[in-house]
Amino acid sequence: MQPHWLLKFDLHRLILALAVLGVLATFGNSFYAIYQAQRQLLIANTLESNRVYATKLATSADNMLKSAQGQLAYSAQLLAPLLQANDDEALDIEVERLRQQTSTFNSVVIVNPEGVIVAVSPETLQVKGAKLRSPTALKAIESQQPQITDPFVSLTGNYLISLSYPVFSADNVYLGYVAGTIYLQSTSVLSNLLGQHYYQDGSYLYVVDREKTLIYHPDPARIGQKITGNRVVNSVLGGSTGTQEVVDSRGVDMLSGFAPVSSTGWGVVAQRPRNATLAGLNDQMSGVLMQMVPTTALILFIIWLSATFISRPLRQLANRASLMDQQGAFSHISGIRAWYFEAAQLKQAILKGLGLLNTKIDKLHNDSHTDPMTGLFNRRAIQRLLDEYLMDPKPLCVIALDIDHFKKINDGFGHDVGDEVIIALAALMQQEVRSDAALCRSGGEEFLLLLPSVTLAQAQGVAERLRLKVASHEMPTAGSITISLGVAHWPGHGNHDLDAVLKQADQALYEAKHRGRNCVVIAE
Ligand code: GH3
Ligand code: MG
Ligand code: MG
Repeated sequence: MQPHWLLKFDLHRLILALAVLGVLATFGNSFYAIYQAQRQLLIANTLESNRVYATKLATSADNMLKSAQGQLAYSAQLLAPLLQANDDEALDIEVERLRQQTSTFNSVVIVNPEGVIVAVSPETLQVKGAKLRSPTALKAIESQQPQITDPFVSLTGNYLISLSYPVFSADNVYLGYVAGTIYLQSTSVLSNLLGQHYYQDGSYLYVVDREKTLIYHPDPARIGQKITGNRVVNSVLGGSTGTQEVVDSRGVDMLSGFAPVSSTGWGVVAQRPRNATLAGLNDQMSGVLMQMVPTTALILFIIWLSATFISRPLRQLANRASLMDQQGAFSHISGIRAWYFEAAQLKQAILKGLGLLNTKIDKLHNDSHTDPMTGLFNRRAIQRLLDEYLMDPKPLCVIALDIDHFKKINDGFGHDVGDEVIIALAALMQQEVRSDAALCRSGGEEFLLLLPSVTLAQAQGVAERLRLKVASHEMPTAGSITISLGVAHWPGHGNHDLDAVLKQADQALYEAKHRGRNCVVIAE
């Protein structure tokens, strides 16, 4: 026996549960797969666009620095004769032109081979005549080469980089250098270039020099700070272009693209918070969900429908099988639409079983109501017939019949011959009476005939005919025999009791015996 709770599961629910589980698992899996794919795509796209952007800005910065150096180179040519001539006025005009013509430089200075500033623009800096002692200035003089310095703090306290170009006379005598500065903490050509694309979603760009010092950052306070232990900075200063996912100084997950500036060895890093990149993903996924839900609902509905159709025949068969002993079971089961193989086979098997059962029951029923020797009704059948008559009352005549001197036949010819006589008499009676008459062997060589819907006179006629027929009939071995008959009618003879009418017929039979046998007596 199964535990009771298990019996709560029927085929319909099991199919449904299985299918729903399958659909939901597939749905969830697809959704997750789409989510992951979208997420990776977004991240990859962002990384790539940051790389492209960093590369573009690195190239732009490179070009800008080269063009700035070009300007200094051109100026250096102009300056050689002026320096030789110590033409202060012309030098002032040239530094002014250089600073103002392209606004590349925040300040321009001309320095003589002794390190003394001989001209400066803007004049507000008031450093004319000052002697430079910084390593960068000394290096420019010593090397007599074009230079782009690392960031440093100038005499006037500005944080800047300086581009310098040596000035040589026509006969190649070193006359000093001309230098332009680009301020890092205030508006400059660099901040204009780098700061022109500033996103509102937490994206930003920064630039580090070779020493990992920040030379551009949207937060000016951070310029000049050194960045250590940052993988992106390490990569870009190693000279590579690429992308990386990193955590920035504030602990924000960033998607970074980076590229080096070849002329200076700086690194440009463009980055966007991962969260900002993924912000649109939830909206996208709700869109996907909205698209998937109706289809999934439809699929679930179809599954429910299919589960119903598949389980219905089996459920009906199961229900009907448990009510097999009830009326109409056969036609109910026949009416079940078993539309697929297993159900059809089960239905056939149940119907076959039921058919066999019914045949068996019918046979048992007949056996229990039939006299095996003659095939006539037995006493039990008579009782049932009388009950049926009572349910639908109509006039009824009863004939009681007994073979005369039967003992003599038994004694004279043997019991078997006696049996044959009984069987032959039964056959004779069946030939002689109407099909709606019930013939019954009430015991030994005694019989009862129930004749529905006939008058007493008609019944008397039947009895008389039967008596004459038997009397004229040649029985096997025993030869001719006679019978005595008693006839009674219901309702009539002053009673409404069906059992009483049987007794009356019996009494009439006794009377017939008494009158000498081979005769018919009508009950009083
Ligand atoms: P009566 O004219 O008064 O009826 O005389 P009867 O000899 O027929 O007397 P009764 O009806 O009393 O006797 C019936 C006999 O029938 C008694 C019994 O031995 C015999 N008998 C009863 N049933 C059977 C049977 O099934 N087969 C045979 N062969 N004999 C039976
Ligand atoms: Mg007898
Ligand atoms: Mg008898």
